[in-house]
Amino acid sequence: MKLRSEFAPWDAELLYSVPGLRVADPKACQCGEVLKGVIKPWECKVFGTACTPETPIGTCMVSPEGACAAYFNYGRFSMASERTRLHVVPQSEITRP
Ligand code: SF4
Repeated sequence: MKLRSEFAPWDAELLYSVPGLRVADPKACQCGEVLKGVIKPWECKVFGTACTPETPIGTCMVSPEGACAAYFNYGRFSMASERTRLHVVPQSEITRP
């Protein structure tokens, strides 16, 4: 990713010299797809297993505002409310005529 030339005055890569700094994305990380909306965070192969807020692999899990971290921390609440909204009846409570 690179800034367009009209934003050059604010481009930190041009303003500051950090020699030899190369950061490659881990192969397992799918942050690019998450950020583009191609996949949801939980669809990443390592979401919640190898990649958690305590052991982040990609940038989306590092910051609490990151999409993956937000889904990891708060997704269970939305899934719980969804179950409540649907009012799932356990099999044992179903009476048959
Ligand atoms: S931050 Fe973690 S869970 Fe999110 S896409 Fe990257 S590797 Fe997958």
